[in-house]
Amino acid sequence: MMMRIRGLIVCLIFVMLPAEAPAQGQRARSILFLDQSDLRGPFYYEIFRAFRQRIAADAQSHVTIYSESLDLSRFGGAAHEQSLREYLREKYRDRPIGVIVAIGTATLELVLRWRDELWPGLPVVFGLIDDNDLARMKTQPNITGGTVSLRVADAIRAARAVVPHLNGIVFVGDDWSRQVVFGHWREEIRTAAAGLQVTEFIGLPMDELRQKVEKLPDRTAIIYSAVYSDEEGGFYPPAVSLKFISKVANRPIVVAAETFLESGGIGGFVLQPEAIGIDAAVRAIRIIGGEAVSHIPIAPTNAVKPIFNWLQMERWNVGASDLPDGSEIRFREPGLWQQYRWQSALAVTVLLMQAGLISVLLHERRRRSDAEQDARRRLSELAHVHRQSIAGELSSSIAHELNQPLGSILTNAETAEFILEQPNPDLRELKDILADIRHDDLRASQIIGHMRSLLKRTPFELKDVDLNDVMREAFELMSAQAATRNVALYLNTAPGVLPVNGDSIQLQQVILNLLFNAMDAMTEIPFGRTIIGKTEIDGGKAVISISDSGPGLPAENPNGIFDPFFTTKEQGMGIGLSIARTIVQAHKGRIWAENQPEGGATFSISLPLLPR
Ligand code: ADP
Repeated sequence: MMMRIRGLIVCLIFVMLPAEAPAQGQRARSILFLDQSDLRGPFYYEIFRAFRQRIAADAQSHVTIYSESLDLSRFGGAAHEQSLREYLREKYRDRPIGVIVAIGTATLELVLRWRDELWPGLPVVFGLIDDNDLARMKTQPNITGGTVSLRVADAIRAARAVVPHLNGIVFVGDDWSRQVVFGHWREEIRTAAAGLQVTEFIGLPMDELRQKVEKLPDRTAIIYSAVYSDEEGGFYPPAVSLKFISKVANRPIVVAAETFLESGGIGGFVLQPEAIGIDAAVRAIRIIGGEAVSHIPIAPTNAVKPIFNWLQMERWNVGASDLPDGSEIRFREPGLWQQYRWQSALAVTVLLMQAGLISVLLHERRRRSDAEQDARRRLSELAHVHRQSIAGELSSSIAHELNQPLGSILTNAETAEFILEQPNPDLRELKDILADIRHDDLRASQIIGHMRSLLKRTPFELKDVDLNDVMREAFELMSAQAATRNVALYLNTAPGVLPVNGDSIQLQQVILNLLFNAMDAMTEIPFGRTIIGKTEIDGGKAVISISDSGPGLPAENPNGIFDPFFTTKEQGMGIGLSIARTIVQAHKGRIWAENQPEGGATFSISLPLLPR
């Protein structure tokens, strides 16, 4: 009898022993993955995908995964639970299972109710369990998993970020009692939403819901939990219902699952399904590998993160700086740089090279224009020095020329005095005398004026001038000099005016220089010293020429006469013609010299004629 009792006790002890003890180290390499929804929905599918991928990557040898979607958000009740239990019992009767993975609070509750009967002592790994929900459950041994902390207060925080001066929130979702993930929000709302106008569009038919979200007041945000059914027999994956709603909603929709971002949610503190799947996989592998469940503590999963949808942010005018710290922004259009990296790099390089080239060219241009200005300044200075020497040469004849009007002024003044001493002075004659004095005085001041302008230091300045005038003045200024040197001066100007763009002083200087040279060339000629000046129009050009009756251009180097310092004169400096050429070129003109067939040289200058 004692033996039989002892045997019974041993049997009982054996039956009552926790299943974990014998299974350690030799656990079946298979997992039964149970989730509370429908794997065709993106959120649960993503948890499963990440789970399966992690198992495949980390397990030492093959692990079989069975998966069941219990669809608890759409089906419930005792009868359904009963049939599910029977279904699982029968289906897996001959399949050894190493670990049960339960995703979601509704799944975990069933698993814990069924475990003793269906999988006695089998370790359970859970995921997607809110820490508050877990705290409410009865603790059981041989369970591990990752908790999440999905607070309605965070959803409201996100709503405040995307709607400035928020004063109302509208909850859209299924009846709270059927919400498998967000059900606990119901109790949190009162405290979390204090001070806000709270509206609940919960468990409404889809059409009615769509009409309502179309006309919400400003300063309101929608907080979307999940809509699985529309109370009229229609069932949707919640991402699909969100699409329907977001199309018509007139306010931004804060969401709490990463997979709702693509369906029209603006974002929020969202659950990342991948993190949940990975956490569960890591725990399951450790258990299959032989680790004691007690060594793998329940811990929070870092699966909730502030993530926002850029496209929706643009739609609702939300800036990145409005978002909570540490927020991630998705679906931001990659800039041109990201999209076409090498093409952009090439374009930037080309632009940089072009910019570089342009700046070099600008620099060159600047340098050239500086150099041109510098050259003009030097030319003006050189021309001035040369003019001074011309003026010096002219001075003796000018003095002589001045004598003439001054002398006649004196004579006229003396005659006038004499007339005035008469008892009946002839006033008419006096008037004539005064007119003569005035004329001589004007003549004298004109001569002095010319000299002055030759001696004046003036900057190179282009103006519209009449080339005929310039020639006349130069010939006039030279007339006294010509007379003293026994040279006959003739000038034959083209009829009317010869308008050119020029600096009259410098052009006159050139002509004076040619006249001096012509006179110099004829010093050896005993008689017949003649200079003939001419102005004429040739096409679009004004051409002046000065011909002499001298010996012609130096035979040994006729082309060298325009070179600086070329001279055949004893006292010559050889710079007159070279300055003349520079001045003419600065006027965009041309100067050349040739011998006349009948003897003597002709110097010609052509300048662009202005339209008359
Ligand atoms: P310079 O008068 O000091 O010699 P220019 O440059 O004015 O300097 O003249 C250079 C040279 O050109 C003169 O020395 C002369 O040999 C030649 N030349 C200039 N004009 C004539 C001319 N009308 N007939 C012949 N030779 C001339």
